[in-house]
Amino acid sequence: MNKTDFSSLPLAAELLDNIAALGYEKMTPIQAQSLPEMLQGKDLLAQAQTGSGKTAAFGIGLLHKLITRANQTQALVLCPTRELADQVSKELRRLARAIPNTRIMTLCGGTPIKPQYASLEQPPHIVVGTPGRILQHLQKGSLRIDKLNKLVLDEADRMLDMGFQEEMLHIIDMTPPHRQTLLFSATYPDEIHAISEAVQNEPVHVRLEETHDDKKIKQVFYEIQKGERTKTLIAVLHHYRPESTVVFCNRKFQCQELAEELWQQGFHALALHGDLEQKERDQVLTQFANKSSSLLIATDVAARGLDIKDLQAVINFDMAHDAEIHVHRIGRTGRADKEGLAISLFMAQEAPRVTAIEEYQNSPVTIESTAKLKLRDNFRLSPPMVTLSINGGRKDKLRPGDILGALTANTDLNGKMIGKIDLFDRIAYIAVERPIAKQALRILGEGKIKGRKFKVKKLR
Ligand code: AMP
Repeated sequence: MNKTDFSSLPLAAELLDNIAALGYEKMTPIQAQSLPEMLQGKDLLAQAQTGSGKTAAFGIGLLHKLITRANQTQALVLCPTRELADQVSKELRRLARAIPNTRIMTLCGGTPIKPQYASLEQPPHIVVGTPGRILQHLQKGSLRIDKLNKLVLDEADRMLDMGFQEEMLHIIDMTPPHRQTLLFSATYPDEIHAISEAVQNEPVHVRLEETHDDKKIKQVFYEIQKGERTKTLIAVLHHYRPESTVVFCNRKFQCQELAEELWQQGFHALALHGDLEQKERDQVLTQFANKSSSLLIATDVAARGLDIKDLQAVINFDMAHDAEIHVHRIGRTGRADKEGLAISLFMAQEAPRVTAIEEYQNSPVTIESTAKLKLRDNFRLSPPMVTLSINGGRKDKLRPGDILGALTANTDLNGKMIGKIDLFDRIAYIAVERPIAKQALRILGEGKIKGRKFKVKKLR
């Protein structure tokens, strides 16, 4: 038996069967490194990104030894955003199919609290949610965690970045001291060490080295002078013309400023940073993923969890503070079949960071002169799609088919002109090809969807 076989773990047969039914053949590295110790009840401090299989790692840990006949909340997963909480709940429910009568509940802000009170009358075994809303329930007494034995802090660095530290610590204070605490974070700033020290008990450390062996990434560095950053970024965009790019900045406020500046220069750029509300974040990510925006300006923390396929380029507007973060950033571009592009801008005083990257990746980097960057006349990088928004979503019983139907039935539009349709609770986003955007806006605005009128807007 191999160390990466799930069957090497002391799990119940039903759980093992279900894992196999889900098509998980081997443990991912984070699972193989954390599960044996986690199942022994040890605390865990793990570095893991979205896509590493971390959710299944702690999910299996939480389901192991869960007592479904006890009407008590036994595990709590704290997440920074509703988006992540929904993803986690989904994965937990898939894993829990094997264990009859497991109750898993998601409790997040931004949705009415009243229905949650009703659902909580029968305590869920596992609660997943965002700190603010969980604390509200604890203070109201609608949720009790005094019998909790497992606590997960997922994307802990992002929770801190979003200002949840106080709520998090308050919640942890209300849990029994003899709990198992599993902390997942993609980066390890000092604050994470401090939290770990404060709330964990001799945690096992798991740190994964990023490997991108299966990807081809063309990496180029440009040395710039003071005041040349934005100009060089624009020159890079002219020269390489990438259709979809994430530009990394080190500070939140820079993202917004840079996005505005790029707009003025005729680029479609959107900022993604920790100060956005969930609704705005959903909108920005939707526009970028459905190809109606070509540039996403983000901080490391905000870009966490970003799962965007077809990313052609990553540009380090600011150099990452450490080589590991740099490698993680550029790993977002390039796929097995296509070469990705990673551009980094640095000033002379940042040269030690470039050296650190060379040492980390064990190979020299290519430094090119900005003079080689070719500017093009009348260059515009306009994204192929435009996003329309409708003030109706899942909770209004809308489905993608209804919207597609409204756009294409009795009109001269066809399905090929319509891109992704993303439905949220009360809002829907529809990507349409740029040349037909006005027409699509008119059709949806003047007509009805499922017999009802909706407000339709074209997003910038
Ligand atoms: P996560 O990093 O938790 O967001 O998981 C990334 C994806 O990998 C999810 O779609 C999981 O369902 C899937 N996954 C998790 N564990 C495994 C595994 N051992 N084998 C194959 N897929 C997995």
